[in-house]
Formats: sequence, structure tokens, C-alpha cells
Amino acid sequence: MKTVWDIGAQRPNFVPLQEDRTADLCVIGLGGSGLTAVNEALARGLSVIGIDAGEIAGEAAGRNGGFLLAGIADFHHDAVAHLGRDKARALYQRTLDEMLLMERATPASIRRIGGLRIAFDDDELLDCQKHFDALILDGFPVEMYDGPEGRGILIPTDGVFHPLNRAISLVEHAAAGGAELYAQTRALTVESNVVRTPHGRIEAKSILVAIDGNLSVLLPQLKDDVYPVRLQMLSTAPETTKRFPLPVYTRSAYDYWQQLPDGRISIGGGRDVGGVEENTNEVRITSTVQNFLDERIKGLGITAPVEHRWAATVSYTKSGLPIAREVAADVYAIGAYCGTGNVVGALLGRAVVEKISTGKSDVWSDFSEVI
Ligand SMILES: Cc1cc2nc3c(=O)[nH]c(=O)nc-3n(C[C@H](O)[C@H](O)[C@H](O)COP(=O)(O)OP(=O)(O)OC[C@H]3O[C@@H](n4cnc5c(N)ncnc54)[C@H](O)[C@@H]3O)c2cc1C
Repeated sequence: MKTVWDIGAQRPNFVPLQEDRTADLCVIGLGGSGLTAVNEALARGLSVIGIDAGEIAGEAAGRNGGFLLAGIADFHHDAVAHLGRDKARALYQRTLDEMLLMERATPASIRRIGGLRIAFDDDELLDCQKHFDALILDGFPVEMYDGPEGRGILIPTDGVFHPLNRAISLVEHAAAGGAELYAQTRALTVESNVVRTPHGRIEAKSILVAIDGNLSVLLPQLKDDVYPVRLQMLSTAPETTKRFPLPVYTRSAYDYWQQLPDGRISIGGGRDVGGVEENTNEVRITSTVQNFLDERIKGLGITAPVEHRWAATVSYTKSGLPIAREVAADVYAIGAYCGTGNVVGALLGRAVVEKISTGKSDVWSDFSEVI
């Protein structure tokens, strides 16, 4: 199931693990979160082994909507209501800081052009106003917006990126920096200091599990807290007209689209339309959600034919907050970003490494204490 991001991308190949190995840190899951942790660990002088059950960035990190959004999955006013103003403000600022680090690490893949939240109806317009008010009160950049896409808010610090190219850059950097990386190597069990895979055992002082959509498969102790969700997208051939200079999300972020620099439109959403059938880690597209996306692009006046359709899985929590937890001594689990893990995943991957290498991470404390 190729995606729009696969066009022209050169995925590096890594062999499976075939023998026992040791390292300071073993990272399980080489998406954006795990790869950020790998590079952070190398920068701090740790030896690192990274394994992935499939292709590197073959799951959500290489197949997502490409939005870079500040904050956690809850809109800022909802986060304030949920967590209190101080904590919500701290988390939002952490994600802004992380976006700067992401830009610095992979500048060619990132465009900080701003992003739109457009109201789908009058209720959502009221919610946009609350969203705006909460950001203003905390001194974060936001503007009310009224334009061809509709009415809502513009968040100038948001942006877009090429998720697969970014992951490839992170992989290349990690490999050049001395990380041992293995593809097609599934972690079968994880316990303190030991990861078992089909053809080799990894001993590591610390272990990071960064497998978002499959968290509860490998770590059944998280089953009560997280559940898998499939998200689906499609993309069109290039549209000749530049219709969407900024990425858009709407319907309380159920639906989202952007026009890529080559004119292609990529759109995702309709998870709610698919219903409980979408609460799965089975990676396949369905006619219910894809038909919804087809209607959505027609409604936007897009006539270019569909070129790619795809799905990938993530995890959600009932609380709407991500998982940042030490699940056994020196075994850290991150994920369940509730569909917005591009920035928070990188932030938490980096935070775990800071914690294991210095004994303390304010970011880790901020996130792990709210769960
Ligand atoms: C269609 C879609 C659109 C999205 N759009 C956005 C967006 O616009 N903005 C945003 O912020 N977020 C978005 N998300 C969410 C975001 O993509 C994810 O939260 C994020 O990519 C998670 O990255 P990760 O590295 O933690 O996990 P993943 O990218 O899922 O990587 C985990 C890796 O772990 C591997 N793995 C799984 N089990 C094992 C195992 N047992 N052993 C070894 N390896 C294993 C997998 O093969 C995978 O490569 C979207 C997600 C989807 C699916």
C-alpha cells in the first residue's frame, strides 16, 4: 500500500538481527519517535541498537498526514480544562520547542508555514473562539481566520513536513553515527534489560518501546489504557491550481488535508464515519472511509484523480493524553498520541534518552505525571 510520500523516496535497507547483541539502549520501533531517540542517544555518547518489525518508518511515521501541530491531541482550551493552565501551557511550549529541534535536524523536510483549523459548523466556530482565547491568554501565536477555506483560526507556528523523507534523514544520520539498526526484527518479549527477537537476544541497560499503534500488543499491561485505531488517507494527482496554501483540519480534527508543493492533495479523516471497525491495528483500507474521503474531496471541488489510498495504525487513550511510562525497571513506553504524534513522539523519544543519560528530564516528568 504505497502512499503519496513514497513517490521518489529512497528507503534504505537494513538486514534482520541474526545474533545476540548488547548496547546501552535498545529502541524498539523505528518511526519518528524511536529514530529521534536513537539520534539523541548517539549525541549523548550511548551505544544504540534499534529494531523494527517491518521496514523502517513503514508504519504511521512514514504514512501520516504530515501535519506538525503544537500541543497534545486535545485543543489547548480542552487541555487547560483537563490538566490546568500551568501544565497545559508547559506541554504546549514543550512541543513548540521540539518543533525547532525537528527543523534543525531535518530542515529540508519541514515547512513551518502555519496551519488552519476551520470550523465545520457554528458549534465548531464557537469552539475555535475558545481555542483562540486560550492560546492568546497563554501568549501563544494565533489569529482569527476568515478566508476561502472558511472561518476558524490560523496557528502560525504549525506547519507541514514530509514524514518519510524526514524519517529517512534520521535513519541515515543514525547509521552514520554508529547505531546498529535492524529491519524485519520484531520484539517478541521485553523485560528489564532484555529484548527477545526471533533470531537474537538484545541485552541493554535501558529499553525504549516506541511502537505507537502496537503498544498494547507488545505490552499487554497497557491494554486497559490504550487501544489501536486505524487512520486512512488518500492523495490525488497534482491539481494545477494552488487551492490550499495552508494545511487545514476541521470537524474537530477528524478530517485534515493539505496541498503538497507539487499540487497533489492529500486528505485523511472519516475515522468516526468508519465507527468501531476502525478501532483495530489491522492495516487495510475500507470502502466506508475511502468513500467518505472521495466525497470530501469532491465537496472541496477537487477534480484530480485519486492516485494513492492507504492506512496505518496509531493508539489512542481514553484520557486523550499520551503514554509516557516506565513499565518495568529501565523499560520505557511512549506512544498513544491519539493521532497527533509527529511532534509529541519526537519530544518524548528525546526525553526518555535525557532521563536515562542524566537521571532527570523535565519533559519526561511533565508528561509522565499527567497520566
Ligand atoms: C493516516 C495517519 C495520519 C496521521 N496524521 C498525523 C498528522 O498529520 N500529524 C501528527 O502529528 N500525527 C499524525 N498521525 C499520527 C502519527 O503519525 C503517529 O502518532 C506517529 O507517527 C507515531 O510515530 P512512532 O514513531 O511513535 O510510531 P510508528 O510510526 O507507528 O512506528 C512504530 C514502529 O514500530 C514498529 N513495531 C511495531 N511493533 C513492533 C515490535 N513488536 N517490534 C519491533 N518493532 C515494532 C512498526 O513496524 C513501526 O515501524 C497520523 C497517523 C496516521 C496513521
